[in-house]
Amino acid sequence: MPETTAIQRFRGPLWAALYFVMAVAPLPIALWRHTEDGRGFWIELGVALGFAGLAMMGLQFALTARFRWIGRGVSLDDMMQVHRQAGILAVVFVLAHPVILLAAHPAYFSFLDPRVNAPRTIALVVATAAVILLLVLPLYRRRLGISYEWWRLTHSILAFLAVFVGLGHVLMVGHYVSGVAKPLVWIAMTGGALLLLAHTRIVRPIAVRQRPWRVAEVRPEGERVWSIAFEAEGHPGLSFSPGQFVWLSLESSPLSLQQHPFTIASSAERGSRIELTIKELGDFTQTIRDVEPGALAFLEGPYGQFTPDGISADATVFVVGGIGVTPAMSTLRTMRDRGQTTPIVVVYGAVDLDRLVFRDELESLTAELDLELVYVLDEPPPDWQGERGPFTADTVARIRQRLGAADAYYFICGPEPMMDVVESTLAADGVPRSRVHAERFNLV
Ligand SMILES: Cc1cc2nc3c(=O)[nH]c(=O)nc-3n(C[C@H](O)[C@H](O)[C@H](O)COP(=O)(O)OP(=O)(O)OC[C@H]3O[C@@H](n4cnc5c(N)ncnc54)[C@H](O)[C@@H]3O)c2cc1C
Repeated sequence: MPETTAIQRFRGPLWAALYFVMAVAPLPIALWRHTEDGRGFWIELGVALGFAGLAMMGLQFALTARFRWIGRGVSLDDMMQVHRQAGILAVVFVLAHPVILLAAHPAYFSFLDPRVNAPRTIALVVATAAVILLLVLPLYRRRLGISYEWWRLTHSILAFLAVFVGLGHVLMVGHYVSGVAKPLVWIAMTGGALLLLAHTRIVRPIAVRQRPWRVAEVRPEGERVWSIAFEAEGHPGLSFSPGQFVWLSLESSPLSLQQHPFTIASSAERGSRIELTIKELGDFTQTIRDVEPGALAFLEGPYGQFTPDGISADATVFVVGGIGVTPAMSTLRTMRDRGQTTPIVVVYGAVDLDRLVFRDELESLTAELDLELVYVLDEPPPDWQGERGPFTADTVARIRQRLGAADAYYFICGPEPMMDVVESTLAADGVPRSRVHAERFNLV
């Protein structure tokens, strides 16, 4: 269960402060007991950017290490946003390092001359190429036809290369790492980053294999949408909050590349039987319909902060679209099982009535909960009196009018354009950022 204390509120800023301290830590470490004269502003700036860039690249491993205690107080969206933006800044710093040094002191071109030191030149060229690819590949992955899984593996290998060669470069140049302690600090920091990578990609997947699940049922839920239920095998299951997600793997090898995130759609009161509702999209999700009951499965989690658990408000409002309904569904099922009767509004966008997944169950839940359902249809039937899609600022304004003065918390999950409209309209209307939670179903 998420914490509800002040610590939770300040956890995000505290992590940001710690991140900043760790990113700039190499600079005081470099200056500690450093007795040589300065080499001029530009050279020192180039070196400082290189140090900070390398530290930030190492910190990237911590951001994606899936430690739940890091994730607490910071949503997945925010974490991915930080990972992306810090990654871009780290790459800019790392690339600015040689550019500034070569411009300030052309004698450094000898570092790129294979006749002077071929292994060094090769290592620096490979590391520079790795850093550029780290930045460029996410932007062009789809256009280049690289699957998410292969991109993710390549991303890890490139990051490893960049950090590993970066460490070698720092130690070999040795200007700010004289003595015994400083090289050890650098080796420890880089080693820590690489251990995080090994933990995420190898240790944790092996641990997850010790708590297997069995597929109990696969049932159609709508057009190209399937619910798949898993029962815990030999362990009590998962303790989670509605709205959280798990990483699903249907392959027994811990090194399998196929691990996909899905929000738990079932009730948080039934942790030994977990249900995911999955829309067919690409190669993995299209296999769900063929999964046989009895098959082994592995669930890693729970992760995420996209949950109304622990929040006290006059009303909880889910604004969801398409398969983004799954966190709302888990919340409603959990409320039913807990006998909770606090007001909840689900604004649900879909192409048409037939595309509303869980429609029958949602409508029957209105009898058990203080639930108001608002459908927003792109292609409504001719006699439709309700809201029409796509979502606009007016749609959001009408939803807010219905709520009156209610002090509401918003949970937004759905297609990108819908989320953008809802988020920007709520922000423009002055709804505090702390009351608006968003979860995007695409990480890259
Ligand atoms: C927090 C979260 C919760 C989600 N919950 C649900 C849900 O409840 N129901 C549902 O149907 N979908 C959900 N998704 C989306 C789901 O993870 C993707 O649709 C699925 O991974 C696509 O895999 P694919 O191979 O079939 O499709 P592809 O065509 O290979 O991929 C389509 C897109 O899905 C994303 N993706 C693909 N593989 C992965 C992966 N291994 N890890 C992360 N992202 C990947 C990428 O953005 C990719 O561009 C969720 C995603 C996230 C991030």
